Amino acid sequence: MTETSEDTALHADFLEWLRCFREYVLFQASSGATGLPRDPAAQVVAASNVPALTEPPASFKPPAPEPIIAGVPSLPDLVPQRLAVAASVAPVPLAPEEISARLAVLQQRVAGCTQCRLHETRTQTVFARGTRKSGICFVGEGPGADEDEQGLPFVGKAGQLLDRMIAAMGLARDDVYVCNIVKCRPPENRKPQPDEAQACRPYLQEQLDLLKPDVIVALGATAVEGLLGISEGITRMRGKWKLFQGQTAVMPTFHPAYLLRNPSAKHAVWDDMCEVLRHLGLPVPGKTK
Ligand code: SF4
Repeated sequence: MTETSEDTALHADFLEWLRCFREYVLFQASSGATGLPRDPAAQVVAASNVPALTEPPASFKPPAPEPIIAGVPSLPDLVPQRLAVAASVAPVPLAPEEISARLAVLQQRVAGCTQCRLHETRTQTVFARGTRKSGICFVGEGPGADEDEQGLPFVGKAGQLLDRMIAAMGLARDDVYVCNIVKCRPPENRKPQPDEAQACRPYLQEQLDLLKPDVIVALGATAVEGLLGISEGITRMRGKWKLFQGQTAVMPTFHPAYLLRNPSAKHAVWDDMCEVLRHLGLPVPGKTK
């Protein structure tokens, strides 16, 4: 039986389809997909049923790629198009209930975490408080003694000052989300060590990925370093906008604990909070348009 040009085209298209399929399966396997035949016996069966991907015989002349049916693109032509479409589709935003549910699951994971030495001395983990209603997320350094005892961030004296700041901004306490770089109290309220901050970083990342705040307020130098990897003095950095992962505005400012020791710095923090409100298009208390 002689091979027609249509047979030749079909042969070429089938080989190309098989190659694409094989690459797709390998990609899925490298991405951790399950359900692929990993069992050696299954692989033998699979190998015996599927023709080996070899070069076509020397006599085979691949035709110029063209649609088999006029007007209908072949599969190899479609694959890059499908990938381009998939890459261009914006992710669907999660519903607020879904975000809350995922944060609750994350909180459970954090509660059992033993990734760094801080778990040895904690009473409990301190995940977060509040909501993203205002679009603002405050990120501090780590829990202190009161937070370790109550399981909530910023509930001690520094937290009460933060609450007064939030109220002065015209917001309710739970309109903002508040969390820390590390979720367990460092002993003696020391600064978290770099490996501790790094171990805890994925949790903060997941929180921020879910919340998608419009503005992050980084409270103190440790928060700026944990978020942005910048280790400059907070006095130099405060009040100057930065970007988290190239997209979320970050306002560095003094930590409320610093304000308790240095009340004169409150003016600077208030300026920074007014800048946050302006950035969000929210009214600045005491200012008329
Ligand atoms: Fe885990 Fe973070 Fe606590 Fe370390 S500080 S044990 S990484 S939750």
